[in-house]
Amino acid sequence: MSDVVIQNLVKTYPGNTDRATDDVSLEIADGEFMVLLGPSGCGKTTLLRMIAGLELPDGGSVAIGGRDVTYQPAHQRGLSMVFQSYAVFPHRTVRDNIGFGLTMARKDRAEITRKVEWAADLLQLGRYLDRKPAQLSGGQRQRVAVARAIVMDADVLLMDEPLSNLDALLRLEFRTELKKIVQDLGTTTVYVTHDQGEALSLGDRVAVMRAGRIVQLGDPIAVYDSPADRFVGGFLGSPPMNFLAAKVDPDGTRLHVADDVVPAPPAARSRGGRDVLLGVRPENIGVHPDDGDVPARVEVLEPTGSAVLITVDVGDESLKATAPATFRARPGDVVYLSFPPETMRLYDAETHDAIAAS
Ligand code: ATP
Repeated sequence: MSDVVIQNLVKTYPGNTDRATDDVSLEIADGEFMVLLGPSGCGKTTLLRMIAGLELPDGGSVAIGGRDVTYQPAHQRGLSMVFQSYAVFPHRTVRDNIGFGLTMARKDRAEITRKVEWAADLLQLGRYLDRKPAQLSGGQRQRVAVARAIVMDADVLLMDEPLSNLDALLRLEFRTELKKIVQDLGTTTVYVTHDQGEALSLGDRVAVMRAGRIVQLGDPIAVYDSPADRFVGGFLGSPPMNFLAAKVDPDGTRLHVADDVVPAPPAARSRGGRDVLLGVRPENIGVHPDDGDVPARVEVLEPTGSAVLITVDVGDESLKATAPATFRARPGDVVYLSFPPETMRLYDAETHDAIAAS
């Protein structure tokens, strides 16, 4: 059993008035892949380092496998860690790097050889075992760091932006491999990233952080589909969710957007006559050449290969919609948009928090 239970973790660094983590609680199940996602400075690394024992909290607790480890040194916590910076030893061979933790733990030679070869095979490093890190590419060095972490049979695997030094293509490839490896191992994993695509594709659940707090926790599809607030909607998705000022009509069944009227989602019922913010994802907007609810002026067309990303103006506001690759229009054309009510999300005009369907 190696769940991780974090309760009310508070951490403030000396000389910094803001809390790096501000009363964070999170339960990570045994075998779960949890992603901590958020912009730079939101406290992801601090939270990970407190789980690791590399940073002590000012308050709160960390338990691993039912054991309170809040003030235990890192090496007694039964975890392995992979850093963004690889942190491989330059003067040791790949073989010695991968086996380093096992050697330190005084495992017998045959076991070290077996495990190193197993991990090298899994991470396609078999051919490089006798090389030094300087003779490897960045991607291969990061593989060494992952291999070194997984040979330890740790209860919990911690990863801090392990893919961020890799180029885009390599990153995608390694992401898939990493997911398969962790899936097969079934090790509880906590993974820090600021890359929303990585978070959505890797996590069993995603904890979205902002200013030291978890603002939304859920499975990736649910978080993507129903962001808890404007911040989450604007952080997840590429391009992110669009937000438009709208007004609910008095009986709560229709929305006024710019000078037009569209059917409202059920969440509007509780907001009759009030201003709201309409959130809608680019791929959920219907774009039609000559018929639809809301006329819009085309500003920019960006073919992506599989689709066309269209930036349009609606009244004073700009939004992005995804149309099929075959869609034809030119800048300056008027197109018509539709917003299927089941895909619309409504947010409070002042707090920017999601309005639930009542
Ligand atoms: P990034 O993605 O840029 O690594 P992050 O979300 O991991 O960011 P943290 O590194 O946890 O964020 O930092 C949280 C806050 O704590 C930031 O405001 C940061 O400036 C501050 N901080 C982090 N480490 C220290 C430190 N050693 N001393 C002082 N302040 C720190």
